[in-house]
Amino acid sequence: MPGILVALGGNALHRAGGNGSWGEARGQMRLAVSVLAEVAAAGEVLVLSHGNGPQVGALLRQNELAAREIPPRPMDVLGAETQGQIGYLIQTELTPALVRRGVRRTVLTVISRTEVSATDAAFSHPSKPVGRYYPEDDARVLRKQYGWSMVYDGARGGWRRVVPSPRPVRWIEGDAVRSLLESSGGSNWIPIVAGGGGIPVVRRPDGTFEGVEAVIDKDLAASMVARELGIRTLAIVTDVPGAAVSFGKRGERWLTQVSKQELADFYKRGEFGDGSMGPKVVAGLEFLEGGGRRFIITDIPSLARALRGEAGTRVDA
Ligand code: ADP
Ligand code: MG
Repeated sequence: MPGILVALGGNALHRAGGNGSWGEARGQMRLAVSVLAEVAAAGEVLVLSHGNGPQVGALLRQNELAAREIPPRPMDVLGAETQGQIGYLIQTELTPALVRRGVRRTVLTVISRTEVSATDAAFSHPSKPVGRYYPEDDARVLRKQYGWSMVYDGARGGWRRVVPSPRPVRWIEGDAVRSLLESSGGSNWIPIVAGGGGIPVVRRPDGTFEGVEAVIDKDLAASMVARELGIRTLAIVTDVPGAAVSFGKRGERWLTQVSKQELADFYKRGEFGDGSMGPKVVAGLEFLEGGGRRFIITDIPSLARALRGEAGTRVDA
């Protein structure tokens, strides 16, 4: 279907170095919603997704501090909590921005599960750091007590828990959201889906699903969702205006309109950071291979212009 999926990165939701309060989160979101309302006013299908790294980190810490009174929840439950929290935040701030523009669309949060394969190699190689840094003695205890995998981060001088980051395979609520969008031509709704990459679940022999201790890359999940819905444009919104080559080095060059082949070649040359810009580029290439028409990497201030082809890094199929 024609339409746009906007995947919001941590920066649209969380101010680095801020106090982490709810008021601050609302203020940060208020900066993002006016451009989303502008996009919504055009009446096209609009689907939103978002990251959840800082929010999961905060919940892990809450669990840790409260553990003597309230048993900690597993990672899949924390994923669901962050979808609820961030979805509600977007609903709270986007709705008045729509009303101000006279746009009558309902913003709807869908608790979303992402199927992963139980045999994904990531389960034997946990790689995604979550939560806070621990001194060595604590790391030893946590490893023993909970069976956590821990890695040492030399730069920060501490140990961190790592969890598997398997590839997203399927979005379980996809059919339901597709029929919702098709029933109205798409213009009555703004669904918020696959927050934080979706809650990771594996299929059991009886066909039901079970949550697992893992996290899914939100950019790869957004790409999967966009392909499953047959969306035309995938826009990944982050804290830099696009993708650069020689990023942070002499000769740094911000990419504007590039071909799929050029982007793939830059990726192979290692131009994009692992775990940051790299997965965005992979997500975009997979989207364009899977029927998507246009892929954009940009930031909030440039989003409207990027959608008009005047800013950001843009790649056409
Ligand atoms: P998000 O929370 O939006 O997913 P990330 O931190 O994962 O944000 O990814 C965005 C970051 O990627 C940028 O802030 C930048 O530091 C980093 N990055 C790594 N390589 C590049 C590159 N080649 N061009 C632009 N940014 C890059
Ligand atoms: Mg990221």
